[in-house]
Amino acid sequence: MTAPAKSSLADLAAQPISIVTDPPGPRAREMIARALPHLSPSLIHCYPLMVKRASGCMVEDVDGNVYFDAEAGVATASTGHCHPAVAEAIAAQAEVLIHICGTDFHYPGYGEICERLGALVQRIGPNSHHWQTFLTNSGTEAVEASIKLARHHTGRPGLIAFRGGFHGRTLGSLSLTASKSKYRRRFGPLLPNVFHARYGDAASVEELFATVASPDDVAAIVVEPVLGEGGYIVPPADFLPRLREIADKHGILLVFDEVQSGMGRTGKMFAAEHTGVVPDVVLVAKGIASGMPLGAMIARKQVMTWPAGSHGSTIAGNPVAIAAGLATIGLLEKELNANAARVGDLLKARLADRLRGSPAVTEVRGVGLMIGVELATPALAHVIADLCFRRGLLVLECGSKTIRFSPPLIIDDAQARTIAELFAAVCKEASAPA
Ligand code: PLP
Repeated sequence: MTAPAKSSLADLAAQPISIVTDPPGPRAREMIARALPHLSPSLIHCYPLMVKRASGCMVEDVDGNVYFDAEAGVATASTGHCHPAVAEAIAAQAEVLIHICGTDFHYPGYGEICERLGALVQRIGPNSHHWQTFLTNSGTEAVEASIKLARHHTGRPGLIAFRGGFHGRTLGSLSLTASKSKYRRRFGPLLPNVFHARYGDAASVEELFATVASPDDVAAIVVEPVLGEGGYIVPPADFLPRLREIADKHGILLVFDEVQSGMGRTGKMFAAEHTGVVPDVVLVAKGIASGMPLGAMIARKQVMTWPAGSHGSTIAGNPVAIAAGLATIGLLEKELNANAARVGDLLKARLADRLRGSPAVTEVRGVGLMIGVELATPALAHVIADLCFRRGLLVLECGSKTIRFSPPLIIDDAQARTIAELFAAVCKEASAPA
């Protein structure tokens, strides 16, 4: 393969995948070796990628290799890397106000994005609720906010979450997270009164009520409308409607953690829109501001009953992150959600077609641009993710043996075909007898 010519950032978006030196190349190896002794060993670094710059769906490493990013910085660079409209909004905001603290003072974008998010949540399904928003820096903070709000509003301590669910790594959200035991190991005791039901099975919540958790002690049911880190699993159609009924029956808040499935990822602004089930609280973060640190807890006004001072944050809702968020939401609404739905169908169909009969693959599933390819074994998933990297395709694992595809929502048809082809070739290579 030939070395890419020196190019502007915008040109990078139009470049093909190009591996000019086996990754990690010499510069990447040197820089990673220098950085590692200074980093927390808790970071994962699933493969040795040292990124120099990124544009659209393409990522260039420090050795000049160009990759297709089918993971979008963990489903976060929704509008593509360094979208010009987002970059301009960030630059313009940085010239006038970088920080003042949204907990204590007002500034224009804060109210605007909260109003916008409330209007978007209103469209999930029939409801006449007024919605109010608390902004955060991250997904886990949005989950923490919902735990506090639910407890404060109901006066109850209990929480129901689901096996396979991922809600973050701070101690409250970690108490809900149940996708892998390594996330919880040696961090206990976690929050008491947290119970885990089976994902996709609303009857298992009733089982918990009958056996270990009296429903009148339960503040909230927290659920991902599509399971993310736990394996990109779309639940049965009756799951969310049944949870809504159960929550209503017992005066429990229904919290949708859309940190991964929200902001257009599934082809609609929120995955909940596919069912029309309206929750009491919606959590978003990844994808809301194209990678700037922003998250949100959006709740019905009737449950936002906590008083001034009961929750806040110094930096959350930072003006620059909000500017990126407003630009991102504009792009999602204008065309990207529709693109995610259309190209998502195409990519899933292509992957299913190219992987049919492959001994490596047991299932292709998902919705929109949240697509999982389940492999025969965890070891194979790991080998394939690594081989994809070496061939110029960035993907991540999820669940125990699934590769997730969560590319930027700007991906086009030709790119979808290219990555399906490349992935199929990698699966073939990985499963070929040695
Ligand atoms: N909730 C879900 C569904 C997630 O997928 C994640 C992160 O992957 C989180 C919460 C935590 O988000 P963050 O990593 O921004 O804290």
